[in-house]
Amino acid sequence: MKHFPIFLAVAGRRIVLSGGGDAAMAKLRLLMKTEAKLTVIAAEVAPEIHRWAADGKLKIVKRAMEPGDALCAALFYAANEDDAEDARVSRIAHADGALVNIVDNLADSQFITPAIVDRDPVTVAIGTEGAAPVLARAIKADLEARLPSSLGVLARIGKSFRQAVDALPMGRKRRDFWSAFYFNHGPKAFEKGGEAAVLPSLKKLLDRHIAGRKTDGHVDLVGAGPGDPELLTLKARNALDKADVVIHDRLVTPEILELARREAIVIDAGKEGFGTSMAQADIDALIVQHALDGHHVVRLKSGDPTVFGRLDEEIAAIEAHDISYRIIPGITAASAAVATIGQSLTKRHRNSAVRLITGHDTKGYADQDWQALAAAGEVAAIYMGKKSARFIQGRLLMHGADPATPVTIIENVSRADQQIIATTLAELEPTLTQANLQGPAITFYGLAPRAALSQAEKLKEFA
Ligand code: SAH
Repeated sequence: MKHFPIFLAVAGRRIVLSGGGDAAMAKLRLLMKTEAKLTVIAAEVAPEIHRWAADGKLKIVKRAMEPGDALCAALFYAANEDDAEDARVSRIAHADGALVNIVDNLADSQFITPAIVDRDPVTVAIGTEGAAPVLARAIKADLEARLPSSLGVLARIGKSFRQAVDALPMGRKRRDFWSAFYFNHGPKAFEKGGEAAVLPSLKKLLDRHIAGRKTDGHVDLVGAGPGDPELLTLKARNALDKADVVIHDRLVTPEILELARREAIVIDAGKEGFGTSMAQADIDALIVQHALDGHHVVRLKSGDPTVFGRLDEEIAAIEAHDISYRIIPGITAASAAVATIGQSLTKRHRNSAVRLITGHDTKGYADQDWQALAAAGEVAAIYMGKKSARFIQGRLLMHGADPATPVTIIENVSRADQQIIATTLAELEPTLTQANLQGPAITFYGLAPRAALSQAEKLKEFA
């Protein structure tokens, strides 16, 4: 190791830089993150640096460097992009007693500036002693993606809270508390309510730990998408990775359940044990019970949990027990389905709105604003529309919809057995009954597959 990494205390100390062009600006952008007093010395200074000076971020001395300019400076940067001038100013700075760095000149520099991942106060410095800048950049990019942007905020708030945590005995109990904060409650609180939500969550967590209730449950309400595991979000995958208990509905495919943590208990809330399907109140109770047992519960719903997912009933039950929860969105059947027929849900000059409607609700066939839907150019994605197809067809025709309006039914969207049926409003029934579809199907009113069905077949080849 030819260079020893250290973190230098620079708050309130002088850092002097000679140069006023691009190289100077690049270094200044980094240096302005510190609390050092910055002085730029150069005869020519870029307008951007003048703006920084006007904002009070640095001082400019508008002339070439002279002996004494780097007195009392902790660090000195030669950034003139001119070897002779850099050598001259470096000699001066050296004599003035500053540590010297010459930009892009490793051999004559006394220190080098690492690549930095900044989650202040958490800072990662990466150095390759000039051997492989590409490698340093790759490591930096990797860490930038891996470290959540909230990390710095959490660390700052955590630091201000250290004293309160003295209430916990040293050792294991404190470590458990901090790890619950940094890896679980802190990020979740930040994601839900921003910086303001972090401190209250920290206090609550500490109270729980002091009371000896270490583990508290959590519920993720997760969208599983239409069936293809590749259409899961990364967040959904991560939640499945961590789950103690997975409670899923009938339409979630086995391929997706495969991704749950191996030790997780997987409960099918869509069938058996409780008759053909579990009553909503029983599902609510099941979620709450597992969370109160201290488990990480993943409530896995097909598509997006916020679309015809009876989500609010579950949230009400979770909130009634003061259990923490998150909603992780998923790709709803309508989005996935239009993709397979090469269409957009909205299109300029065709439809500036799209309705997501349900064929039936808990009380039977669902009523809609048929009058509005019957107007030319309307588009609707009809969920749960198989049994109610004749009813919907009748209502729309009765309200004057054009019988030739295109209707497309897509069954088993994104799955190997996907099927597309292109028809018209006039033909919707008996076409649908004759097709005898067994899987979930979504019906698009006002949308035909792009150009021809062959297009959908073509798209399938690339799936
Ligand atoms: N939350 C889900 C919808 C649940 S309601 C979502 O956002 O997609 C159930 C209805 O969704 C089904 O009756 C069907 O109309 C539609 N659906 C769900 N998955 C589907 C799939 N893979 N293919 C076609 N339709 C699907």
